[in-house]
Amino acid sequence: MDLYKKSVAELIDLLRKKEVKPSEIIESIKSRTSSIEPKIESYVTDLTDEALEYGRKLDDELIKLKEIPVLFGIPIAIKDNISTKNIRTTCSSKILENYIPPFDATVIEKLKENRYIITGKTNLDEFAMGSSTENSAFFVTKNPWDLERVPGGSSGGSAAAVSAGLVPAALGSDTGGSIRQPAAFCGVVGLKPTYGRVSRYGLVAFASSLDQIGTFTRTVEDAAIILNVISGKDEKDSTSANKEVPDFTKYIGKGVKGIKIGIPEEFFVEGLDPKIKEMVMNSAKLLEKEGAELVSISMPTTKYAIEAYYIIAPSEASSNLARYDSVRYGYRTSEYSDLEEMYSKSRDEGFGAEVKRRIMLGTYSLSSGYYDAYYLKAQKVRTLIYKDFINAFKEVDVILTPTTPDVAFKIGEKVDDPIQMYLSDIFTVSVNMAGVPGISVPCGFKDGLPVGLQLIGKPFDEGTILQVADTFTKVKDFSKEFPDI
Ligand code: GLN
Repeated sequence: MDLYKKSVAELIDLLRKKEVKPSEIIESIKSRTSSIEPKIESYVTDLTDEALEYGRKLDDELIKLKEIPVLFGIPIAIKDNISTKNIRTTCSSKILENYIPPFDATVIEKLKENRYIITGKTNLDEFAMGSSTENSAFFVTKNPWDLERVPGGSSGGSAAAVSAGLVPAALGSDTGGSIRQPAAFCGVVGLKPTYGRVSRYGLVAFASSLDQIGTFTRTVEDAAIILNVISGKDEKDSTSANKEVPDFTKYIGKGVKGIKIGIPEEFFVEGLDPKIKEMVMNSAKLLEKEGAELVSISMPTTKYAIEAYYIIAPSEASSNLARYDSVRYGYRTSEYSDLEEMYSKSRDEGFGAEVKRRIMLGTYSLSSGYYDAYYLKAQKVRTLIYKDFINAFKEVDVILTPTTPDVAFKIGEKVDDPIQMYLSDIFTVSVNMAGVPGISVPCGFKDGLPVGLQLIGKPFDEGTILQVADTFTKVKDFSKEFPDI
């Protein structure tokens, strides 16, 4: 039995029936990882040895425990910008290369209470800034479907690991598309919950009003299972929402009869690859055949989302990243003559080019004299984008769009052109600007490369997007397709 090919739900079932032991799951994953990982490079820190040791401990517990928690013995990889106690958390940055957090992020605490098994910390664009994982200070992760291409970003390591069968699930973070875009490029399911649904405590901050932790899985049901565990109000994160958490797995298998799906014309414009457009429209028709109603809608302000995002996100980043002063933790330059030089040399040597670009852009937009023209204006646009979504949701239950304008690009193709790189998030950023939930599911292949379909939901209505996504993936199921590596 190739256990590494099983979904989370399948593993839960096998564990409950005592047909497999946690250590057997990890053994399968470990051998898959040792043969495939050198080609993909999804992990900054590979913890499969430790995972096996822990798995063996869980074998004994499995016999004794009367009630086993949901994610007991389930292997999950964690993006390396989520704090893990006593495990290095680098954000793929030189500045945090040797940083070992003394605490766990709230999501990690919740997974630990469930006795999940961490398999490693995954590679990302430095501080989650990027769309290809090429901004990692350490190495570039490869797309498992074509090793010459990027896995997307910033959560490229998590997406590649799930896609290549190194692990059935992973956590990522999504500020402007960093879960959904790499999920689309790697052919897996990527869920960004509503802002506030999942605690951000312990997620290293990039742009705090946009950042949200979410999941990578092979099936929609698995996303629902993990979302059940990581959601909820957290006293340690004042922006986490005090909203009831429904059982998201109840939305699985419900079908789409009577569900209204909005198709926004602004998302099907120039720049979108014609083949992808066709595949996404066919996906919508398939849902119509299943009983959903398709409605054309207009969201006029969403076309300004990229511009406004690239003012707001860098502004928040410039403030958040001011903490890396090399005093209490993080990289410190070896030679300096005074405090000022220590700060500036440490930051100059510790941060990569994209991070510096964002800090400069953000500092500029926030400076007096430019604040009103840039930051304030961008915030006003953000409100209009939010209103576009709220208006659309008066008419429809979910919104359907492509996840990305094209498939995974070649490594190196866009590194020298930041604007082109930024445009790969054109369909995902508005979702973060509005704070609503979004999911990307595979809807087919173009020239052998996966294509993603995005479903966007009302605030705190992850249930309905999971329901529609589940129906779609049951008709078009790619969850058992693994790249030939
Ligand atoms: N690619 C976008 C950026 O570079 C989004 C990143 C993210 O979602 N973390 O900012």
